[in-house]
Amino acid sequence: MLEQVDVGAVDFGAYEPYTDRELAQEVRSLANRLKGRRIAHINATPFGGGVSELLRSIVPIYCGLGIDAEWLLISGAPEFFTITKSFHNALQGARIDLTSSARETYLNYNRLNAQQIEDDYDVIVVHDPQPLAMRRFRENGRAKWVWRCHIDTSSPHEEHLLFLLEYISEYDAIVFTMREFVPPIVEHPRLEIITPAIDPVSPKNMTLPEDMSQTILLWLGVNPRRPLLTQVSRFDPWKDPMGVVEAFNLIRKEMPGLQLALLGSMALDDPQGWDLHKQVTEATKGDPDIHVRTNLVGVGDVEVNAFQRLSTVILQKSIREGFGLVISESLWKGTPVVANRAGGIPLQMEGGAGGYLVDSTDEMVERVLHLLSAPEERKTLGRSGQEHVRKHFLTPRLIRDEMRLLASLLDV
Ligand code: UDP
Repeated sequence: MLEQVDVGAVDFGAYEPYTDRELAQEVRSLANRLKGRRIAHINATPFGGGVSELLRSIVPIYCGLGIDAEWLLISGAPEFFTITKSFHNALQGARIDLTSSARETYLNYNRLNAQQIEDDYDVIVVHDPQPLAMRRFRENGRAKWVWRCHIDTSSPHEEHLLFLLEYISEYDAIVFTMREFVPPIVEHPRLEIITPAIDPVSPKNMTLPEDMSQTILLWLGVNPRRPLLTQVSRFDPWKDPMGVVEAFNLIRKEMPGLQLALLGSMALDDPQGWDLHKQVTEATKGDPDIHVRTNLVGVGDVEVNAFQRLSTVILQKSIREGFGLVISESLWKGTPVVANRAGGIPLQMEGGAGGYLVDSTDEMVERVLHLLSAPEERKTLGRSGQEHVRKHFLTPRLIRDEMRLLASLLDV
């Protein structure tokens, strides 16, 4: 059997204060139609990155609503995850050769994992490319299969896409975050666009008193009384942490006393992370104003919450971004964001909500310097960002969208 991440159940009532009445009613009525159905969500890692964050949030809500949801993990040797990370990078546009031994290893581990799935699921939702080919090895079950792609596949390296295409076509439905991410060659009779969301009830996003947030910053070596820029991200080249350090060095020339925090997590399926982490710590060693913080499972939820709350400006310098939950997380806390116009980020800052989108390091430097000296504008942006997230990017809307798809696939 695949390893299960046991996340329990949560009462949907906890979310109602954040949910319009109509939406809450629809969630409950869809849940009634799906009651007792068995749903498996399968991904590659229990921590580190947005997918585990999403599953940690939605699986307990499904269970609380009476749906039998489970979160299952695939496993594999390090060579498998090195290959799937290169798939991930290639699908985001990196030019990487796809060797026949990489194909073989990928399919072998997918086969091994597929053999460990039980038979009686109603729907199996497979997240991202790592477990994508599993469906091939479970042809005869009664389950409906959904492939949920979380990454920016708008300009993929063709060789990898062509290889994966036949596995994608075997699914009953496929889901992308944005229409722009669907490569033209991917045609599917059941293609849905569903945006992710953040969990307002979780320790990461719940209200945190200011004095507690300050204590957390102090505990992590950061002075909460001095201006602070923060980026929260996995140590991944697509998140460009070295670029953040470069931007910070330019900004602080004009603003002495400024601090930078880089909070980062590692994921089990991300062998590149430690190398980049080393590069960043070496480049910033001995600098009292740059705080690089991580541990094996990433900086904890409450710590991230405190940093997103108390930072003067949140940065996100991503080159590619599937969605970027960190944007909604920061906006939800009323903190302005200056972010690269990449992937799913502009969706979350539509119409100028919550901050500025930029296209270069220079523009980032300019916008951040401007905001550092504009406290009133920071507050106005904070409010507009928070409202935009409240309307579009909280978990009840995501659960509703997903349940609509499940109900229609199961015809209930
Ligand atoms: N995160 C965290 N600790 C860290 C770094 C990241 O908890 O040290 C969380 C972050 O708050 C967010 C998720 O990891 O919830 C990252 O998701 P996102 O969609 O921003 O990016 P991904 O890693 O999926 O590319």
